[in-house]
Amino acid sequence: MILKNYWEDSFKDFNSCESLKGEINCDFLVVGGGIAGLHAALFLSGKGDVVLIEKNLCGEGSTGKSSAFLMPDSEMELKHFIRWHGLKEGKEVWGIPEKGVNLIVKTAKKYNLRCDLKKEDSLFLAVGKKGLDAVISEGEARKKAGFPYKLYNIKSLTKILGAKNYAGGIRYGTTWTFHPVKYIQELKKILLKKGVRIYENTEAKSISKNKVYTSGGCIKGRKIILSIAIGEKRFRNTKKYAYHTQSYIAVSRPLRSKEIKSIYPSGKIMCWDTLLAYNYYRILPDNRFLYGGSSALTAYLPFFVKSKMLMKFILRDFRKHYPSLKDLKFEFFWGGFVPTSKDLIPVVDYDSENKDILYVLGCAGLPWAAFCGDYAARKILNQNRNCDKYFKKEKNFFIPHWMESILPRAITFSINNLYSKYYQKDK
Ligand SMILES: Cc1cc2nc3c(=O)[nH]c(=O)nc-3n(C[C@H](O)[C@H](O)[C@H](O)COP(=O)(O)OP(=O)(O)OC[C@H]3O[C@@H](n4cnc5c(N)ncnc54)[C@H](O)[C@@H]3O)c2cc1C
Repeated sequence: MILKNYWEDSFKDFNSCESLKGEINCDFLVVGGGIAGLHAALFLSGKGDVVLIEKNLCGEGSTGKSSAFLMPDSEMELKHFIRWHGLKEGKEVWGIPEKGVNLIVKTAKKYNLRCDLKKEDSLFLAVGKKGLDAVISEGEARKKAGFPYKLYNIKSLTKILGAKNYAGGIRYGTTWTFHPVKYIQELKKILLKKGVRIYENTEAKSISKNKVYTSGGCIKGRKIILSIAIGEKRFRNTKKYAYHTQSYIAVSRPLRSKEIKSIYPSGKIMCWDTLLAYNYYRILPDNRFLYGGSSALTAYLPFFVKSKMLMKFILRDFRKHYPSLKDLKFEFFWGGFVPTSKDLIPVVDYDSENKDILYVLGCAGLPWAAFCGDYAARKILNQNRNCDKYFKKEKNFFIPHWMESILPRAITFSINNLYSKYYQKDK
C-alpha cells in the first residue's frame, strides 16, 4: 500500500507562488490558504491591500484531502440542530452550511472555475436498527422543517443501491461535488488577478501585535484573519479552541460501467452512513470509486493519520457492503485531519487581547469553512454579524474550563463533541 492523495497530482497544473522574503505591509493579512482563507481573501479583495500566506501550497491542508461532498451535513444532522435550538433557530443554524454550499457553487460558476463541479443527490444510509431510527428521525426533522426528502426501506433501497447490509436510507438533493484542489488553485488564480498578494511555502512562525513573522520575513497587517483550521499554542493559545478528528480515504482503479451499475443501478449518488465514525463514498469523474471512513476508537488521537492498518480496516467495511467487488484494487490511500471546535460549530471570533486579529478555526466541513472565511471578512469590515452568537470562542461547554487543563485535548474535544451532537439543548 502506497500513501498518495488522489487530488494532489493536479498541483502540477498550477504555478506555485513564491515564498515571502523581506518585510511588507498590508491592510488585510490572511494566514492559511484553505477554503476558509481563500474565501476571506476573495471577499476582501478590492477593499484594501490583501496578502495571503500559506505554509505549503494553497489547498494542501484539510481542503485538498477531503472527499469533497458539498452538503450541509457534516458532523451534525438537521435533527441535532432542531433538538439543540428548537425548530426556528435549528433551521437557521442548518442554513449556515447551506449558504456555504451556495457560496461555493456561486463562486465556481461566477469565475468559471474548472473544478469538476457537479450536482449530485446524497443518500444517508442506515446501519442496523439504531441506524434506521436515525434515518427515520432525520426524515421527521426534514418534514417539520419543510425540506424535501425521500425515505427508502430495505426493499426500495435496492432500486437505487446495489449494496448489502443497509436497513434503509434517506435521500435529498441540492448537494454537489467538486475537485477540491482545482477549486482552490483556480480561485487562487482569480485572487492573483484581483491583486491579492499570495505567498506559498510561507509558514507563520509567530504573531506579535499586528506582525506575523515567517522564516523569510515579516508582514504587518492592519487586520489579520487567522484561518489555520486547527489551533496551536504558539498562536495566542488558539490550541484550546480547535482540534481535529481523523478520516481516511481510498480511491480505486476506474470502474467499468457494469461495476458502476452494480453499485448505482439508477444513477450516481453520494453516500454516507449512520455510524458514529461514519463511512462515505462516491464515484469520481474518471469512474474511480472513492471510499472513506474513520474509526471511533482512534478518531481523536493526535497520531495514526498515516496508519495503513486503519485504511485497511475501513476497506473491510466496503467489502461487507459490496462483496461482489471484494477484489477491487484500490490505488490511492491517504488520511487527513478534519478540524473541529468543542461544540462542532466553528469559531469566528476576535483574539481576546488584540481585536485586530480574528480567528477562523474548527470548521468541520467545506461549506462551513467557506461560509466562515467569507463571514470573517465581512466581520472585519463591520458588516453582517448576525451569526456571532454561534461562532463565539468561549461558551459554556460540557467539560468545564477548569477540567481542560488536566484532561488531554482528545478527551476534552471528543466528550464535548458527543455532548453537542446527542444531548445539548438550549435552556
Ligand atoms: C479525509 C477527509 C475527508 C473530508 N471530507 C469532506 C467532505 O466530503 N465534505 C466536507 O464538507 N468536508 C470534508 N472534510 C473536512 C474539510 O476538508 C474541512 O472541514 C475544510 O477543508 C476546512 O477548511 P479550512 O480552510 O478551515 O482548513 P484547511 O484546508 O486545513 O486550511 C488551513 C490552511 O492553513 C494552513 N496553515 C496552518 N498553519 C499555518 C501557518 N502557521 N502558516 C501558514 N499557513 C498555515 C494549512 O497548511 C492549511 O492549508 C474532510 C476532511 C478530511 C481530512
